[in-house]
Amino acid sequence: MPPVSTTTTLVDRAAEVLPGGVSSNVRLAHADVVFDRGERCHLWDSNGRHYIDYLLGQGPAFLGHGEPRVNAAVAEAVQHGMVYGATHRLEIEATEALLGAIGWADQARLCVSGTEADHGAVRLARGATGATRLVRFTGSYHGWLNDMLADYSQRPPTVASRGQLPDSFDHTDFVPFNDLPAVAAALSRGDVAAVLVEPIMCNNGVLVPKEGFLAGLRALCDEHGALLIFDEVITGFRLALGGAVERFGVTPDLAVYGKALAGGWPVAAIAGRRDLMSLIGTNTVNHSGTFNASVMAAAAVKATIGVLRDDDPYTALEGTGQRLQRGLAGAAADLGVPMRVAGVSAAFHVGFADPATEVSTFDHVARLDLARYAAFASVLAEHGIWVAGRGIWYVSTSVTDNDVAETIDRFHAALSQEVRSRG
Ligand code: PMP
Repeated sequence: MPPVSTTTTLVDRAAEVLPGGVSSNVRLAHADVVFDRGERCHLWDSNGRHYIDYLLGQGPAFLGHGEPRVNAAVAEAVQHGMVYGATHRLEIEATEALLGAIGWADQARLCVSGTEADHGAVRLARGATGATRLVRFTGSYHGWLNDMLADYSQRPPTVASRGQLPDSFDHTDFVPFNDLPAVAAALSRGDVAAVLVEPIMCNNGVLVPKEGFLAGLRALCDEHGALLIFDEVITGFRLALGGAVERFGVTPDLAVYGKALAGGWPVAAIAGRRDLMSLIGTNTVNHSGTFNASVMAAAAVKATIGVLRDDDPYTALEGTGQRLQRGLAGAAADLGVPMRVAGVSAAFHVGFADPATEVSTFDHVARLDLARYAAFASVLAEHGIWVAGRGIWYVSTSVTDNDVAETIDRFHAALSQEVRSRG
């Protein structure tokens, strides 16, 4: 029997039974808030406080919270069971919808988290090429597993957690984003299975690839016989129905999707060329999972893609994101605070820096006043704006013009309080 809690608040009760009061370490900075419910881009905490949400559960709630068409499809589907231990009809339909949406891949596997999908894609690349090394980019996040989670305060990056083996990155080269010569140098050392890249480095600074960077990666991979893997966990279904592949016109060999793919339901996917994916199909490379392509996952994917096709929200979202970015930058200018607001409409970065500052690599991001922004994120929460402490703002398709106006007002009030508190 767990000890009976003698505490009263939900935050205290959470701290009692959940390590750090949370279920994912990414949430530790938010352990002082307990949510009750959400609707579209709005959240209410256990004290009844209202927030406009630009965190979206770290991205998945791209359609806003509680999208009725997705929820209805899942509720209907699970009446007949959830996992069968074999292929089911909805799974085929969901995967056909996924492949139709992204347009470039022949086959896909649904799984549960982006972390495991990245792991699977890298294993598949090693299995396909027979090579061992991985080239990836300083500042990127590809999940929390042993050979992925990195501490970027060191050069070269090191493991980020006790319990990760110190040799976890023996087969990994970290290179700067947007730096093709560095990628070329890493590839020329040989034995590279894959280059793994977030096409927009959303996890640190929302770094947009420079003109020609992704095409350059494609060409370098081809030249050296390495595979190109896009980690589209954030960009997929968010930048466009076809994700970064559609937006930038560069096709990888494998890609990983998650988050926006299923409107908040826990689903991820590995997609790729038939000759590569068939290595999984023949059990040459193992990819498994009890909950892969569950009925709820398949229903959520099929319904989410249906909603995205029916509503085609991308043009409107482009405008919403731009109005929001202009509004935030305008509020900062009004208060005389140097603030850089940059990225793309569906995901942008806010940082304390001159708007003209060049930010195209992780080292540039590290020079921004990240501690000041992390503290400011708490002030924003006090003013009813819910954002990540690392500067990214995720914009859902449910944001209206009124929400934008209200957000800009709240942001202005929060920033002026922050400026006053600094004296
Ligand atoms: N890749 C990227 C680019 C991500 O942003 C994330 C999560 N933030 C992951 C992989 C891991 O996904 P998950 O949290 O679903 O395991």
